[in-house]
Amino acid sequence: MDVFEMCETCRKEYTDVLDRRFHAQPVACNHCGPEYELIVENRRYTNFDEILNKTVELVESGKIIAIKGMGGFHLMCDAGNEQATANLRARKLREGKPFAVMFGSLGELENYVSIDKTEKGLLTSWRRPIVLLKCHTELAPSVNNGFQQMGAMLPYMPFHHQLLEKLQTPAIVLTSGNLSDEPIILDNELAVETLSGIADAFLVYNREIFNRVDDSVSFVVNEKPRLIRRSRGFVPTPIKTKLNIDGIFAAGAELVNCFAIGKENLAILSQHIGDLKNYETYQFYEETVEKYKKLFRLKTDLVALLRAWPSTGWTKR
Ligand SMILES: [Zn+2]
Repeated sequence: MDVFEMCETCRKEYTDVLDRRFHAQPVACNHCGPEYELIVENRRYTNFDEILNKTVELVESGKIIAIKGMGGFHLMCDAGNEQATANLRARKLREGKPFAVMFGSLGELENYVSIDKTEKGLLTSWRRPIVLLKCHTELAPSVNNGFQQMGAMLPYMPFHHQLLEKLQTPAIVLTSGNLSDEPIILDNELAVETLSGIADAFLVYNREIFNRVDDSVSFVVNEKPRLIRRSRGFVPTPIKTKLNIDGIFAAGAELVNCFAIGKENLAILSQHIGDLKNYETYQFYEETVEKYKKLFRLKTDLVALLRAWPSTGWTKR
């Protein structure tokens, strides 16, 4: 937060030993904290109320917006608008896979899917994963593309809440902001440059994202939550093992890659990285391994490999 110079009020709280925000590093307010900006064609909106109203107008008129989230950019449109979702599918060159959607509330989501107790627990947990749910009523057909299951989640950023409260539509598509198979984009300028063929507008804020993470994807089997993609909210929480795996580095596979590093009897798994055949994804892999080694002060002595995959190349260094 050091790039956001504190205003007088925040500094007073930060330096007052009796204040509950004494030396709380992320202290910031509307005046001195990170700010949103909405870019539509050549116009830039900086007033927050204007940004919110204009975003609502854009979504409701069927536009596609690249919106900066917690772990990277998303592409967003009205999930009830067939033209908008079909456009997003065509522009993102995404033929098969369904899109994830975000609903404003559990009540609204229940108008489209059946939800049991365990699924409800997952949806409303602080981790806010995408949960695969059985659909009984369809949103726009291009959202699910014929699949009977819908990947839905609830809002997890203040802006999501504010936006969905104002929108007439019950749900928005919120899919990874990237070109097919590339990692989710973090940087504002890169987003504008890369996604300009897909998005009609860009909603950004001026704080950098440290750790690139996609939304986690889960589903329930026999009343037990299971993860398909372990990312935002779940990593890097370690998994306990019965063995001492200290210093072991498991490089992971080529497709749907994630790696693991052993520390005593804990396996620290990375977030979902993706398909390492893609050069940008491979760079994301290298950058994340280095980040984890630094973050957890890890030294790897042993390496666990599966085959001659791109991750194997990295471990030979
Ligand atoms: Zn302030």
